[in-house]
Amino acid sequence: MDTISTVEQSKSPSLNKRSRRRRINYPAPTLLVEWDKSYVWHPFTQMQDWVEDDIFLVESAKGSYLKDFKGRLYLDGVSSLWCNVHGHRVRKIDEAVRKQLSRVAHTTFLGLSNVPAVMLAKELIEIVPKGLARVFYSDSGSEAVETALKMAYQYWQLKGEKKRTKFIRLTNAYHGDTLGSASVGGIDLFHKIFEPLLFETILVEAPFAYRDNFKGSEEERARFYAQKMKSALKEHEGEICAVIMEPLVQGAAGIIVQPRGYMSAVRALASEFDTLLIFDEVATGFGRTGRMFASEHERITPDFLCLAKGLTGGYLPLAATLATEPIYQAFLGKHEEQKAFFHGHTYTANPLACAAALASLKIFREDKVLENLVPKIEFLSTGLKRFNMLGHVGDVRQAGFMVGIELVQDRSSKEPYEIREKIGIRVTQEARQRGVAIRPLGNVIVLMPPLSIKMGELKRLLKVVYRAIQVVTEGGS
Ligand SMILES: *Cc1c(COP(=O)(O)O)cnc(C)c1O
Repeated sequence: MDTISTVEQSKSPSLNKRSRRRRINYPAPTLLVEWDKSYVWHPFTQMQDWVEDDIFLVESAKGSYLKDFKGRLYLDGVSSLWCNVHGHRVRKIDEAVRKQLSRVAHTTFLGLSNVPAVMLAKELIEIVPKGLARVFYSDSGSEAVETALKMAYQYWQLKGEKKRTKFIRLTNAYHGDTLGSASVGGIDLFHKIFEPLLFETILVEAPFAYRDNFKGSEEERARFYAQKMKSALKEHEGEICAVIMEPLVQGAAGIIVQPRGYMSAVRALASEFDTLLIFDEVATGFGRTGRMFASEHERITPDFLCLAKGLTGGYLPLAATLATEPIYQAFLGKHEEQKAFFHGHTYTANPLACAAALASLKIFREDKVLENLVPKIEFLSTGLKRFNMLGHVGDVRQAGFMVGIELVQDRSSKEPYEIREKIGIRVTQEARQRGVAIRPLGNVIVLMPPLSIKMGELKRLLKVVYRAIQVVTEGGS
């Protein structure tokens, strides 16, 4: 199976180089597809459609490309759901994981420690916004958020402010799918059905330039929505545990980019009302927005920082919740005081995942990833201008290497496509025919390539997606 050779494969020699890869004897691909359809339940997937569709079983991947069992290559246009950073099968990360594997794959972090986790904590503290002092590990973005919520809650309990039990969340927010993280989310499609199970929160309207009703400059919009936050903080003074938000970009809601000044205004308000601020940088972290962290765009430090997706370069599940020293200090006390943070998971601080994360951070430094990203971000901005020529593109949103292209039925009224039209899915299918793998968010086409994508690949990504949108929304082939 490893030796499948097609025209397309030979066009990209990079996938074949170092072809001393061990042959793996999988069952026949047709059988695997059948088993997938018989035994597997996929996340966020209507399985009734899935079992009818052609499924893309990944055979292997290299750099910006995924390969299927027919030997066809596809550009990974969404970084394997926003987590891949340096491409697939990166030698330095592969080696780091193998090296760690020759020591130990996993030991518990409850009562024991491990080398990569300690080193990673130190490195993270060195690169995150100044003031964050402690790293608490978990396994997914949802858990990083869950952890921050529970820490913030317990912090106030320990401080004797027992009435501070509520969280402020934003409309269009997404913080994960576990019940705690869903409670602070604002995307009804995902979480509405679970509402009776979610805890009570205070909802504040977030800016959304394309669809909100505010008319004014970017600065005025930031101020207008900060004012809404201020009203909520005032009304519930003394009851708020923390404000939680995705700084700069609300990802899952459709890559909604916030007006400049909004995150710093919220930071200032949280301080003014003496409450805590949780930044969920699960999606925006690790270079996605052009800086290592989105918080850096406005040089601010949240009280908690949640990291996941890109933390290991997209290799292994690992997340982290970072907290400031005063928060950490509040949990200190004698054993019998029982002030410890009673929370953790079996695979917390997995050494293989931490080794991958360390290798990823080393690549950021050694290969000057963020510097090299600057011209690519510019190229992307320029290339995206063309998309406005398409009659059904309502809005093109970009923050660094995060792009959302919102398709609409009618451009002047901004009338959305109906769900049953599956417009995003159809564009995705069309793009796949043309060798690009992407995944939409409803009617929003998302582009989120690995930071390592080459200029030529980026050009092709734009070209294929442009054509796919054109074919699906305007007809033709
Ligand atoms: C993806 C995401 C999460 C959830 O992370 P998982 O690892 O999928 O649990 C949380 N917050 C944001 C902003 C995300 O984009």
